[in-house]
Amino acid sequence: MAKLTPPSLPLTGGCQCGAVRYTISGAPVVFYLCHCTECQKQTSSAFGESLRVQLADFDIAGPTKVFLRPISKGGHQTCTFCDTCGTRLTHQRPGYGDKLNVKAGTLDDAAWLVPAGHIWTSSKQAHVTIRSDELAYPHQPETDVDLEAQWQAMTPNWVPTT
Ligand SMILES: [Zn+2]
Ligand SMILES: [Zn+2]
Repeated sequence: MAKLTPPSLPLTGGCQCGAVRYTISGAPVVFYLCHCTECQKQTSSAFGESLRVQLADFDIAGPTKVFLRPISKGGHQTCTFCDTCGTRLTHQRPGYGDKLNVKAGTLDDAAWLVPAGHIWTSSKQAHVTIRSDELAYPHQPETDVDLEAQWQAMTPNWVPTT
C-alpha cells in the first residue's frame, strides 16, 4: 500500500481562472481514479480524479453552472462548472448521499495525492500502469467500502468525520 503525506486541513482549490474557489474542511472520504470513457471525454485526458468529501465539509464560492449528465444506472449526476472558464469542479450522484466528488486536479496543491484505487480499468488507456498493491476494478464496484478503507489506511492522520 502506498504511503502518502496528506497536507493539514482545510484543503483549498478552485477553477482555472480563479473566479470559483472552494474549501474542504474535513477529511476526504476516499480518492480514486476513474478510467471510464465518460471521464476520459469529460477531462479530455486519461482518467477522472475523484476526491469524495462530506457536503458539510465543502464550501464553494463564485459563479458556477450546473449540468446534468445521464449515468449508466439510470438517472443523472449533477456536474458543477465554473461559469466563467468552464472548469469542472465537482459532481454528485444520488448514491453519494451527503457527499460529493471534487475533481482533485483543481486542488491548489495536488502533488501529494495517491489514489486508493482505480475503477473502470477495462477501458483504461494502455500507457497507464497500475501497481499490484493498488485496488483495481474492471467496472463500477458494487460498493466503495474497500476503496474507502484503503484510503483511511493511507491517511491515518486524518480522522473521518462521518
Ligand atoms: Zn473559472
Ligand atoms: Zn468515470
